[in-house]
Amino acid sequence: KARKRFGQNFLHDPGVIERIVRAINPAPDDAMVEIGPGLGALTEEILAVNPNLQVVELDRDLIPVLRTKFFNYPNFRIHEADALSFDFSQLATDKPLRIVGNLPYNISTPLIFHLLSQAGVVQDMHFMLQKEVVQRLAAMPGDNNYGRLGIMAQYFCRVQPLFEVGPGAFRPAPKVDSAIVRLVPHQTLPHPARDLATLQAVVRTAFNARRKTLRKALAGMVSVEQLQSLGIDDNLRPENLSLADYVAIADLLVANRPADAAADDATGGT
Ligand code: SAM
Repeated sequence: KARKRFGQNFLHDPGVIERIVRAINPAPDDAMVEIGPGLGALTEEILAVNPNLQVVELDRDLIPVLRTKFFNYPNFRIHEADALSFDFSQLATDKPLRIVGNLPYNISTPLIFHLLSQAGVVQDMHFMLQKEVVQRLAAMPGDNNYGRLGIMAQYFCRVQPLFEVGPGAFRPAPKVDSAIVRLVPHQTLPHPARDLATLQAVVRTAFNARRKTLRKALAGMVSVEQLQSLGIDDNLRPENLSLADYVAIADLLVANRPADAAADDATGGT
């Protein structure tokens, strides 16, 4: 029986499963990792192509089910773990990881932030998510759902929404529409920040007050003069600024930090 606590909605529509696997396009020697295999609907199709698939599953009741179902794949590995704190870099050997998953929707945002922090060992990621979360990931300045998730995802990755999936493809059917998204980590960051934590702080502060003007939303952190020196109108709202604008603000804050903090930054990098 599906457990609500683990966000369990199992895929059962063969046409949808096939379409997802075609989008993922697994190759036999890819370093594939699936998050939340559940009863193994996607797992089965990926294993048929790539017998080295590894999975991370939190629900201990599902582990024996998966072991039994896939006993004839000796290289199939199950990690009984919480994906939210799982160190995916330990799975990357000579190849970057290809991560896939029909994610539990109740933890998808923190899970995506966790995975972005490990983007350096990732080739690409394909996720089934609530449709609104895919819209947030892909949102551009001015869009209603533009915010912290989209900015940080686009800082690290190219975001490509692929297709929508209705509730009927799952059992039990979720109350929301779903969509598949592809995230491909940039080889070279298009807008590298001097200090990632500062960028994250600026973006978080700005979107805590997304309806206010930038001047008010960032009051105490960035002055009107500083915004103007970057050519950014302080009457704009946080949702109007591009990723490049946020990086410029964060870099200015780093450059203007007191000398001792700047010295800490410099030694921290060596
Ligand atoms: N992939 C399966 C499918 O498509 O039928 C199941 C998808 S279901 C939406 C989410 C899966 O993630 C469940 O198997 C659930 O037990 C598992 N899960 C929930 N929270 C998790 C966590 N923190 N870490 C790893 N797996 C988790």
